Amino acid sequence: MELSHRLTNLNGGGSDGWALFIRAREMIAQGIPVTELTIGEHDIGTHRVILEAMNRSATGGHTGYATIPGTDGLRDCVAARVQTRTGQATSRDNVMITPGGQSALFATHLAACNPGDKALFIDPYYATYPGTIRGVGAVPTPIKALADNGFQPRAQDIAAQANGAASLLINTPNNPTGVVYGRETLEGIAQVCRDHDLWLISDEVYDTQVWDGTHISPRALPDMQQRTLVIGSMSKSHAMTGSRVGWIIGPAPVIADLINLATHTTYGVAGFVQDAALFALNQGDWLEQEVAAPFKRRRAIAQTILARQNTVGLVSPQGAMYLMLDISATGLSGEEFANRLLDTHHIAVMPGESFGRAAAGHIRVAMTIEDAAFGAALTTLCQFSGQISER
Ligand code: PMP
Repeated sequence: MELSHRLTNLNGGGSDGWALFIRAREMIAQGIPVTELTIGEHDIGTHRVILEAMNRSATGGHTGYATIPGTDGLRDCVAARVQTRTGQATSRDNVMITPGGQSALFATHLAACNPGDKALFIDPYYATYPGTIRGVGAVPTPIKALADNGFQPRAQDIAAQANGAASLLINTPNNPTGVVYGRETLEGIAQVCRDHDLWLISDEVYDTQVWDGTHISPRALPDMQQRTLVIGSMSKSHAMTGSRVGWIIGPAPVIADLINLATHTTYGVAGFVQDAALFALNQGDWLEQEVAAPFKRRRAIAQTILARQNTVGLVSPQGAMYLMLDISATGLSGEEFANRLLDTHHIAVMPGESFGRAAAGHIRVAMTIEDAAFGAALTTLCQFSGQISER
């Protein structure tokens, strides 16, 4: 008996990019203190008022099977939020609630791709993208967004790969680069999707964390509503990573088919979690601003520290909770740099290569520890880079 290739080939025979993170966790398990700047997990928990709402709902009895597409209340609330933020008519029928953005990535690719279809995505990318695409039997096809172009993808590079492709996955604000795609970039992307009849899967899980510029949802661009599937999540915006609640926005017939998929896979999201999400969204802006504020503050701390030296380059971070640092002046790869930094100073950062070839010579720093420790770690990192570059 053998396991299916679809499962065993999820990582494509290569590394899943998490080796350094795992090594840091092993050091911690051995009692070695490590400063972790690796994963996108807030250093605060879910706000007490959200947990109280969750508790009220659960003890009030909302613990049975919830309706599979999501509760009417949460679907209506998400639809209204999307409509207000994008100006695009959106109703409950355009929304399915999912157990987080990750399952939405899987479901949307299953909706868009037949086995063997090319599924395009932009490199650098969030580490699960290629595996998710392989998981639905499609062929992951990265398109480089170049550091020289500020990691904004170019329409002509996407068009060059578009023949035989069924979908294009984009992510703005971007993990790992922190870049927010500008209007010109998104208009170019939309044009390629129209010209080549592609589904556009738009991962917008960081849409409440924008420091410079404006987040534009490509679903709001002309003639894009019918071919765009938007992924949202409460994980990053409301520090609800463990609650597993997010959504897909798309054309009503697509959502109807996706609900059928959910019936056969997730069977929906816990009712008390949905009630907590509804409560959180109904609080308006203050909660999400409170969750986003530390990253904005730490970005400013990083900009000050990095301005004092010249061997670590900062890719201008416009959103999300990460910094992409160019360490090519050291002559090391991102992987070598991250491994040596971990061994020498017990600071764990992610090698750029974990996020694709376009991020080689870079490292990603998650701004997810308290301000003073964050500043100290970044200062050490810069000194370390300076020492290597001098040799
Ligand atoms: N997309 C991106 C770009 C992410 O960074 C993450 C989480 N790190 C996800 C999707 C998935 O998030 P979740 O499943 O918690 O909503």
